[in-house]
Amino acid sequence: MGLSEFPKPPQKHRGIRILGIPIHLDPSWFLILAFLAWSNATGYFPSMYDGVPTWIYWLLGVLSALLLYVCIVLHELGHSLVAKAFGIPVTCVTLFIFGGAAQIAQEPKNPREEFLVAAAGPLVSAVISLVCFKLLPFLWPVESLGQFCVFALVDFLASVNLMLLIFNLLPGFPLDGGRIFRAVLWYFKRDYVWATRIASYLGLALAYLMIARGAWFLFVKGWMTSGLWYGFLGYFLRNAAQGSLNWSKWAEAKRAEMLRDQDH
Ligand SMILES: [Zn+2]
Repeated sequence: MGLSEFPKPPQKHRGIRILGIPIHLDPSWFLILAFLAWSNATGYFPSMYDGVPTWIYWLLGVLSALLLYVCIVLHELGHSLVAKAFGIPVTCVTLFIFGGAAQIAQEPKNPREEFLVAAAGPLVSAVISLVCFKLLPFLWPVESLGQFCVFALVDFLASVNLMLLIFNLLPGFPLDGGRIFRAVLWYFKRDYVWATRIASYLGLALAYLMIARGAWFLFVKGWMTSGLWYGFLGYFLRNAAQGSLNWSKWAEAKRAEMLRDQDH
């Protein structure tokens, strides 16, 4: 995910640091990690591969959930390192229930910086996915359980990083795609506030589409887990988009007020 303000980082950081950036594990992250491990062990891997011992499904479930989060950290480090290169301080990278977020201490100073910081994360996901897809032909056929596990995990990472890439590039704020879109609008119209408003409206539209999709899964299809998941994710994105929309309206009003004062 993008550089959102959610959730708030702790005051003092203890624990892991990568390249000088603290990695904060929100309590909700442990929940989603356990859920993903369970869901991959009982749903995804059994549906992909037949006739494998149950403990192997569980091993794959746990490893795939952990590796997915390694990829998410790499995605967030992509944003963070480009931000740091532009002299923008990075407070920390947080892993939480909806993925990861790099907290940066200030907004980018110009459209070019915003574009590059926002694009760096999806670029990392794209490279991981591509490398995994390219590796697959070298890993098949398998001759042992160990080789099978490697193949199954690389295959999972190839598709899951592609999904991360596509989701993050959706053009609504606060997703990376929304930030890229805002940077493009900002570049052409030279108006940060206006660009934020348009990207936030698109973010709101996307969030409501996601909530509708969740409701459809839940009430029409009877898929409780994915229905609730989409519903909550949509609600979280809605709040973030609404927050930046409110900010842009406030900034717009402030600007109008200043222009009025200048006229007097
Ligand atoms: Zn991102």
